Amino acid sequence: MLLLGAHVSISGSIAKSVDRAKELGCTTFQIFTRNPRGWRAQKLKQEEVEEFKRRRREEGYRVVVAHMPYLPNIASPKQDGWRKSVNVLIDELRRCDALEIDYLVCHLGSHLGKGVQAGIERVARAVNEALSKVETGCVLLLENMAGQKGSVGSRFEEIGEIFSRIEQPDRVGVCLDTCHLYAAGYDVRSEAGLEETLRAFEEKVGLRRLKVLHLNDSKGGLGSGLDRHEHIGHGHIGKEGFRRIVNHKVLRGLPMIIETPEDEKGDYSYDLGVLRSLYRPE
Ligand code: ZN
Ligand code: MN
Ligand code: MN
Repeated sequence: MLLLGAHVSISGSIAKSVDRAKELGCTTFQIFTRNPRGWRAQKLKQEEVEEFKRRRREEGYRVVVAHMPYLPNIASPKQDGWRKSVNVLIDELRRCDALEIDYLVCHLGSHLGKGVQAGIERVARAVNEALSKVETGCVLLLENMAGQKGSVGSRFEEIGEIFSRIEQPDRVGVCLDTCHLYAAGYDVRSEAGLEETLRAFEEKVGLRRLKVLHLNDSKGGLGSGLDRHEHIGHGHIGKEGFRRIVNHKVLRGLPMIIETPEDEKGDYSYDLGVLRSLYRPE
């Protein structure tokens, strides 16, 4: 079965995300467990946790993904910023555990000019500390970056190096974002480029670590370093690129989540429709 969904809002209550996912015909979905724009989260109430778990069970969602809020930067060289970021990571892992969420996606962040190596060390230390403080079945997923200035983890070599420093690698995986891949210079648009990308990922990180895909087309060109999501088929990856991605034997069984814009050109139901039309059931 195709596990395809969208990043849906929790506006009103966390359980409402299940209704939104259902309405869109999603077979998996992603949420923020709280307002993503602030540092502080309201504590989860037991009723909202129970309501979410009940609604999810009723609708039969096997895989649910959460995404970290925007502000934390676990690659930060600044002690106070890094500490605050690790505390949010710990808190989010606990929230995901309470909500029985399967995966928590975290951006690798920015070294803020201190260099990739310094950033890799900060990320690994953040992950090790967070996992040592929280017992949870929720697997932490590191998301590849688009190659913006200062970013850590846009190259598979960097993600591989982070893994080599992680003390509990079985509790960590990777979420690959197709827009970020393309912007970072991995040509997932072409058949040969997609094969080469997966080969390089297997070599540097390991395909067994790949747990979730973010399907976003890219406004920016190959290697542009721009993190600008576009509607499926309207960007540089294009419909044929996504046809290969959703049907690829290595990728087709993975949970796939769109994080595309909602604007005059289209919305989630449009992008999900395009992807479903590209998918060939076996
Ligand atoms: Zn992300
Ligand atoms: Mn993403
Ligand atoms: Mn992005």
